[in-house]
Amino acid sequence: QIPVAVIVGRPNVGKSALFNCFSRRRISIVEPTSGVTRDRVSTEIRHKDCVFELVDTGGMGITDSDGLTEDIEMQIEVALAAADVVLFVVDVREGVTPLDRIVAERLRHVKKEVILIANKVDTPKFEHSMGEFNELGFGEPHPVSAIEGYGRSDLLDKIISLF
Ligand code: GDP
Ligand code: MG
Repeated sequence: QIPVAVIVGRPNVGKSALFNCFSRRRISIVEPTSGVTRDRVSTEIRHKDCVFELVDTGGMGITDSDGLTEDIEMQIEVALAAADVVLFVVDVREGVTPLDRIVAERLRHVKKEVILIANKVDTPKFEHSMGEFNELGFGEPHPVSAIEGYGRSDLLDKIISLF
């Protein structure tokens, strides 16, 4: 039984892009419109001497606001059932949104390690925006860019340190 890391977060923050960035393959579908990951997708990740299972969640083709809440509930359920570590992804370009707060609120009651990740840090100027995410209650986020690969290795180090 290998450790499991589950990616959660509102639509369009780059969960699937991050999944692909970790796996270095294009397994999960990344789309410019939100809500395209129809199933949960998982893959084995090797980093240093560690192997773990990475799970991407979210999507289900939901667009209305009720559906979004359901989607987040589903993600939390997956995380509760399977995760050793929860990867909570936010978007540095959008800042904190109401849906991010809903995810944070739900995760607060989940007795799992949570790593807050600020994605889309494609250039260093976005590093200055990390502080605003402190309000979510999971400390300062780890800056990454799923597209550029920035922060990938540091984040993998952090994940495996929690197993
Ligand atoms: P998900 O709904 O959370 O799975 O988000 P996706 O992975 O499908 O990505 C949503 C959008 O954000 C797509 O247009 C991606 O190209 C874009 N995106 C994802 N990661 C990054 C990133 O690191 N930098 C930038 N600039 N865009 C990104
Ligand atoms: Mg997705």
